[in-house]
Parts: sequence; structure tokens; C-alpha cells
Amino acid sequence: MSPSLGSSHEVYDVVVLGAGYAGMMAALRMGRRRLGLRVALVNNDEQFVERVRLQESMVAPVKPRIASLSRYLRRTNVQFIRARVLSLDPVRNEVAIEEDGSPRTIAFAQLIYALGSHVDTDNAPGARQHAFRLDPGEGPRSAAALRAALHEIAGRPARVLAVGGGPLSVEAAGEAKSTWPNMSVTLLSATSAGDFSSAKVQSVVRRDLTRLGVELVDNERVIEIESDAAIAASGRRFPFDICIWAAGMRAPPIARQAGLEVDAQDRVVVGTDLRSVSHPTILAVGDSAHPNGPTGAPFRASALAAAVSGVYAAEQVIARNQGLLIRPFSFSTFAQAVAIGRFAALFLLDANDHQMLFVMGGRTASVLRSVLIWLVLHFITFERLLPGLQTWPGRTRAAAPSAAQKSPDQSDVQLKTGR
Ligand SMILES: Cc1cc2nc3c(=O)[nH]c(=O)nc-3n(C[C@H](O)[C@H](O)[C@H](O)COP(=O)(O)OP(=O)(O)OC[C@H]3O[C@@H](n4cnc5c(N)ncnc54)[C@H](O)[C@@H]3O)c2cc1C
Repeated sequence: MSPSLGSSHEVYDVVVLGAGYAGMMAALRMGRRRLGLRVALVNNDEQFVERVRLQESMVAPVKPRIASLSRYLRRTNVQFIRARVLSLDPVRNEVAIEEDGSPRTIAFAQLIYALGSHVDTDNAPGARQHAFRLDPGEGPRSAAALRAALHEIAGRPARVLAVGGGPLSVEAAGEAKSTWPNMSVTLLSATSAGDFSSAKVQSVVRRDLTRLGVELVDNERVIEIESDAAIAASGRRFPFDICIWAAGMRAPPIARQAGLEVDAQDRVVVGTDLRSVSHPTILAVGDSAHPNGPTGAPFRASALAAAVSGVYAAEQVIARNQGLLIRPFSFSTFAQAVAIGRFAALFLLDANDHQMLFVMGGRTASVLRSVLIWLVLHFITFERLLPGLQTWPGRTRAAAPSAAQKSPDQSDVQLKTGR
């Protein structure tokens, strides 16, 4: 299957945009030689960035476990293109990229959009200019820039303000206070800090933050960031030396600019086949996707949802190529962990993402969290080793009659900082 294009373009059966958890899983799944698909994977970074460890990079650079994607993918059938995606043309089936400083175009028959998300700074004036965020890269307000700024004030009892009550903010505040106990670290939340799962989770999160010495300020919604203070809707000012903005996420604007149907956070609206509802040759996965129907467990931003949606999208592409139909996407959850500096909160989830049994906190949970994120990385390793064999929990459940109705959880797939 090939789109009709001029001969100056490289034409692929499938182009995957973004080599995060979702894009890597998708590309590797389609890389089986016997499928005979021409697969290109485009990513702006040569390294695989483990986003679940970005908070660690506030303190020191995180040694990449996959340092070179070109080398990692060399023996596979996936062509890696290190380039920045500039734009997408869903009518001509083309992607404009910038590779080594030069623009060029590649063409596709089907495309998997896996460009992830970044911290939303459009939701409060001044956040973009005056706050840091846990975003990868070398930007002036990235996690790397935050690290430099924190090291510069490390000897002083400086004031660090983390804005947002979700996991991202908890991880940022916990990491700062754990590393620099002499700093005064405040976590400012519009509702109640740690309120993203169950009351049990919240109490462990708050207990461990408090044990570290983080000050928790609830029910203060920040409406503006000035150069040295956050202004709340109540009129209160919260002065800071360093502000870390973690009050929501959004996907890159490329899909919206291309005319695809997107939600308020620029995520591509997809059906339960993960195909764009407006442009079905394009599939979206991971943090960039917003399924508009039941997906088994709620589709919140997480490494698990990214990885399993990537695998499913690959299977959709393969099925279409072979003229087959496959069941809708579905998955189940089983555990979640949130880093809190040297501590963590770790808990089991039922298939529908509800916390069950007990919540583990402290150092043991932190060690187990490291094991969990190492395991997620090994979904990728396993897919490279034995493409097509890996399965995932709950892959058949949305097709079951009981899951065919929209669950209350599905009505709120807000990305926020929830995982
Ligand atoms: C600090 C932090 C901690 C987290 N902790 C956890 C956790 O403990 N557990 C959990 O499940 N989830 C966690 N998450 C969420 C999880 O990391 C994301 O849900 C997951 O990474 C989404 O995967 P993805 O493949 O959709 O996107 P990403 O992993 O973001 O990958 C997207 C890829 O696209 C590339 N890209 C983007 N734009 C372009 C462009 N224009 N051109 C070329 N390439 C581009 C990026 O470089 C990146 O490689 C955490 C997130 C953060 C920020």
C-alpha cells in the first residue's frame, strides 16, 4: 500500500512519530521482517528518554539506559530517523521533518502519532517565562535548566515552589527537599495535594512529603506567575526563588495544526481502534491520544497505557494491511508508584485503575518503584528481542459486553499530571 506521491519523497508503509514508550513499542512490533513493512521511526533525540525518571534529572543527569536509538534499532527492520517533526499533511500523507538542520519530507500510507506530552504552560500567564518544568531537552526552562538553577542556589535556604497537586508536582517537590533539606520547599495545590487516586494513597503521599519537610498548601489556585512570586485566585502571593510548574500537561500542537480533531489539550481524538476520528489513516497512542470510547481501564497518561496502546496501534496497522479487522483496544492496570524524593508511594490497582489493598510508603516503596520502571523499559527490550509475542493485561476486555458501556471513569480522561 503506497500513497501517490512525487518520486523525491521517501515513502514508508508506516511512519511512527516519537520514540517514547508508545512509539518504540509500535515500531518494534511492526519491525518483524516477515511482515515486509517499510517502517520509519522519527524522533528528535538520539537517546531514549525515560520520562518516568525525569524528576531524578533535577539533581544529576540520568544515565540513559538506551543511549543510542540508531544502534539499538540497527538489527531490526525499523529505520530510525533522528529529526524534528515540523508538520503533518494528512491529505497528501506527508510529514515535514528537519534532519541535521535541513528540512525534508517523508510520506506514509499509515502513520502512528506518538509525540507524547509536555507540561502545559499556556494555562497561567507568566508560567512559560518564569517557571521551570520537568520537560526533557536543553530548553531554558527544562529539567536540565532547573538542575543548573537548583545547584546555583544549593548552599542557601532558598525558596522552591512546586505548583500542582498531582504526581508530577509531588515528585518535583519530594526530589528537591530530599536532596537539599536546607531549602524551603512548598507544594501548592488548587485542591488537596496528593488527591489523585484514593484517600489511602493521599495520606501516604502527604505523610512522606511532610516527613521530608515539604510544606503543603491546599486550596490555592494559582492564576499568574510573576518573576518572583505566584499569585493565587485568593489574592495571596507566594514568593519563590525557583518555581516548578506542574499544573497540567498538553500534547504537541502538530496534530491540531494539521487539522486533525483534537481535544482541549491537543490530544488526537481517536476511536477504540486508536484511529483518528477525522483522519483514520492516522493512529494516535500514549500521551498524545484521547480515545473517545471505552478502553477497559481509563486511559490516563502512564508508561503502561503508552506501551500497550503502541502495541495495539501496530496490530491495527498490520491488520489493515492484511485486510483483517481486530477487536477494539483495551487494557487493565495492576500497579502504580509515585516517587517522593528518597521515599515513594506504591500500590496495587484493580483492572479498572482503582487502588486496592494497602499502600506502601517509605524507602521500600522507592526501591520497588525502581524495579517497576525498570520492568516497563523491558517491555521494549522484549519487543525488540521477540517482536509480536508480547501480550498485555486486559487486551480482550473492552469487547466483553460488560465493558461495552462507557464507565464513569471514561468520561474524564483529562491528562493533567495524573498517571
Ligand atoms: C517526571 C515524570 C514522571 C513520571 N512518572 C511516571 C511513573 O512513575 N509511572 C508512569 O506510568 N508514568 C509516569 N509518567 C508519565 C509517563 O512518562 C508518560 O505517560 C509516558 O512517557 C508517555 O509515553 P509516550 O510514548 O506517549 O510519550 P513520551 O515518552 O513523551 O515520548 C514522546 C517522544 O516524542 C518525541 N517528540 C516529541 N515532539 C517531537 C517532535 N516535534 N519531533 C520529533 N520527536 C518529538 C519526544 O522526544 C519523545 O521521545 C511520568 C512523567 C513525568 C514527566
